[in-house]
Amino acid sequence: MSTNQYDLLIIGAGVSGSALLYLSTKYTDIKNIGVIEKYAAPARVNSLSSNNSQTLHCGDIETNYTLDKALKVQRAAAMLRNYALAQPDAHHIIFKYPKMVLGVGNGECELLKKRFEVFSPHYPELKLLDKKAIARIEPNVSMNGDRFRDEEVIALGSTDEYTAVNFEALSRSFVRQAQLAADLDPDKNIDVHYNSHVEHIRIEDDGFIIETADACYRTRTLVACAGGHSLKLAHDLGYGLNFSVLPIAGSYYFTPHVLNGKVYTVQNDALPFAAIHGDPDVLVPGETRFGPTALVLPILERYNLKTLPDFFQVFRFDRRVAKVLWNLLRVRDIRNYMFKNMLFEIPLIRKWLFLKDVRKIIPSLKFRDLKFAHKVGGIRPQLIDKDNCKLLMGEAKIDTDIGGIFNMTPSPGGTSCIENAEADMRIVTQHLGAKINESALQKDLLNDHSTLHCDDAMKNSEHS
Ligand SMILES: Cc1cc2nc3c(=O)[nH]c(=O)nc-3n(C[C@H](O)[C@H](O)[C@H](O)COP(=O)(O)OP(=O)(O)OC[C@H]3O[C@@H](n4cnc5c(N)ncnc54)[C@H](O)[C@@H]3O)c2cc1C
Repeated sequence: MSTNQYDLLIIGAGVSGSALLYLSTKYTDIKNIGVIEKYAAPARVNSLSSNNSQTLHCGDIETNYTLDKALKVQRAAAMLRNYALAQPDAHHIIFKYPKMVLGVGNGECELLKKRFEVFSPHYPELKLLDKKAIARIEPNVSMNGDRFRDEEVIALGSTDEYTAVNFEALSRSFVRQAQLAADLDPDKNIDVHYNSHVEHIRIEDDGFIIETADACYRTRTLVACAGGHSLKLAHDLGYGLNFSVLPIAGSYYFTPHVLNGKVYTVQNDALPFAAIHGDPDVLVPGETRFGPTALVLPILERYNLKTLPDFFQVFRFDRRVAKVLWNLLRVRDIRNYMFKNMLFEIPLIRKWLFLKDVRKIIPSLKFRDLKFAHKVGGIRPQLIDKDNCKLLMGEAKIDTDIGGIFNMTPSPGGTSCIENAEADMRIVTQHLGAKINESALQKDLLNDHSTLHCDDAMKNSEHS
């Protein structure tokens, strides 16, 4: 059994873990940093390009976000954009597409007009689009055949912004750039251990012992970025026992190319899950993808039945979990929505049902245009807060106050990866008594580089 010692050990090399590896290598004086990842490469689970919607959420068109939440996400998105645009392979990581949220019918149109008044001062690119303006960007949304669609429609959107990210390419970039940064500093050592599954964590002296099948690591600080499995590891250590998890799987459908960019729909306030949208898949040219659906599944990792026992271990079903589920099912809209999402998985009828929802975006779409996207879509590990008997919607963090952090990252966890990593880096450096190079962090990630384009980024890197 080999023994390795680290100042910081990260579990999971998805976009969260790899972002933390990059930030702590590049902007701190922490010397020994390790990553343990159970698969052979970064980002094989929710950060895999085909397992999420690839959206850089900025908060302006997400009608389920309040202004406060939107501005927080806007900052996180800016950090990601600043990082991505400075990379030599920016054009593989971040993409520009038009985006909009579509209101259909009087109620939704009024809601979007009001949202525009409140949000537009904070989002200078945001425009209120009528039927004709929508048609110039997304003709298939405004038109039904060669005529404008009958219903009242309005949209909020923009056309010249970075709106999509390949989170898998981003994770690989973080790992590569961390290794390059470590190569330049003789005092730094970083190790990324692939094909290593963390089985058990113990607290020993003033640190942690991490056990995998064939190695044992000692670390002074530990950050688990292992999706739903972070909660399992936290429970193992006796932390986060007041949380349970509700895994929400998302599936997608493909159609021929009908959209030029991202078209979101207005959120039903009664539903805790995001409404479906349509957009291009950055790796599937010539097609449009619709989804995600929202199906409760008793596994922690999509298409991996071996994670069924893991789910039951973290679910910790009791009266309080039952109360949260009962409160959800008591609401008619949620009950119907959950039932409909179960039917979305049943071959033959699923296409008919999904077509009805998609026609809100593309009224002329035909049954034959839709095909279920097999093996596409991951699982959002939504937490149940047992103390307050409620379902939490965003990311969640368990900070043990003894140098261990456990992150659970449903949407918009891809967008927030650098911001989350920044928060973890601050906790870890404080615990270790290490320093952060604040001016470099500010200059690289927090100043606004949004006017820099991919081509400029490539030229800059060639010249540097
Ligand atoms: C359907 C869907 C749509 C989404 N759409 C968006 C979107 O449009 N925009 C957005 O910003 N976010 C979106 N998200 C959320 C986003 O995908 C996730 O927040 C993000 O990918 C989480 O990254 P992560 O690194 O925390 O987790 P993951 O990418 O899941 O990585 C966890 C890593 O931990 C490893 N691991 C787990 N257990 C162990 C162990 N015991 N030992 C070693 N390694 C382990 C896994 O192998 C994996 O590599 C979406 C998610 C889903 C499911």
